Amino acid sequence: MNNKSAIDSKISAQGNSVAHERLLVPEFLRQIMFAQAAASPNREICGLLFGHKGSDYIGQEYIGIPNIATVPNRFVMDPEALISALFAKKGSEHAAHLIGIVHSHPDVQGKSVPSLIDVLGHWSKDTLSIILYRIADTWEMAAYRIDATQLTTQRISVAIVSTGPCG
Ligand SMILES: [Zn+2]
Repeated sequence: MNNKSAIDSKISAQGNSVAHERLLVPEFLRQIMFAQAAASPNREICGLLFGHKGSDYIGQEYIGIPNIATVPNRFVMDPEALISALFAKKGSEHAAHLIGIVHSHPDVQGKSVPSLIDVLGHWSKDTLSIILYRIADTWEMAAYRIDATQLTTQRISVAIVSTGPCG
């Protein structure tokens, strides 16, 4: 899409400021997400990151959701799998909350930022958009707070932690 960069320029990244809060991802979850992304080099993968939000976002569990998009370079979460995953987490007061919507950018090397479609499609304002992107064969992760109504994105830093903070 030749007009993609023009469209993307409509998104205002709020300065280049980075929010104070961070996303903490346990190493085992990073491995799970990157393995799923790496196994799908020609098609975006997507999933949900559950955990807790205090002063930081703390990832605890990742659930991959099938991508049913019928066009390339998009992701559309399978509704049944999506709803099942969300309801499965509603069980108890102590259940982890949805903190991030994850998808990969397998085709555009180094494209770490959300596209306009990503921003417009971000249906949960209180969750992060987490993008798995690659530079050559190395996968990286970027996290953004997104306000789809304002077309704004704010990147937050990601820290990989060796074990889950909650044990
Ligand atoms: Zn995207």
